[in-house]
Amino acid sequence: MNKYQKEENISKVMDTLAQHFNYKERTTLNRMRKKPNAFKVLIACLLSLRTQDKNTEKASNQLFAVADTPEKIIKLPMKKLEKLIFSSGHYKKKARTLKHVSKIILEEFHGKVPNTREELMSIKGIGPKTANIVLAFAYGKEVLPIDTHCHRIPNRLGWVKTKTPEQTEAELEKILPRKYWPEFNALFVLFGQTICQPISPRCSQCPVRKYCPRIGVIRSR
Ligand code: SF4
Repeated sequence: MNKYQKEENISKVMDTLAQHFNYKERTTLNRMRKKPNAFKVLIACLLSLRTQDKNTEKASNQLFAVADTPEKIIKLPMKKLEKLIFSSGHYKKKARTLKHVSKIILEEFHGKVPNTREELMSIKGIGPKTANIVLAFAYGKEVLPIDTHCHRIPNRLGWVKTKTPEQTEAELEKILPRKYWPEFNALFVLFGQTICQPISPRCSQCPVRKYCPRIGVIRSR
């Protein structure tokens, strides 16, 4: 694909996916953009790591019904916190992370979630994806949160040829028109969960099949 073909391909894919997925299907985190609360976005994102969206939603709802500020999370007994977020998996590790993040936000950032990537990533437990989720969904900044789906699919489509989500983020920043940035994460997470899945993508049902060279796809349905 030359530069112009790639530009056209990106537009076709993005527009087709935007039509294909409706708002109700958005992930818990994406839905939180409607009424952004930076602390809740951050905590929900930490709970979403290595689990399915339905588990993130359940754990977030249970936790926020009891504790939705750093002060309240600090005060929760560890066992109770673990129980509240149990459904998100890896609950012991996540509970420790939640306590630590809440403590640092209170002690070093006056109780307010920082709004720069550098400050966010200075807190142990917050990586590039989580930082970008907070910046994009809570603070409306123009950044691209890249998770496993947002990394895998642009490689299959031939938009990028990268080995890590960080490399994908850097490449997409160069080639993805800005008008697509706000919806990119939402669409690609849904697409990756339902159709362009990791092991055996559902290419026969894919709305963008005719635009996809299926790079690296060995098995498909
Ligand atoms: S055709 Fe297959 S590999 Fe390509 S985007 Fe669709 S599901 Fe993914």
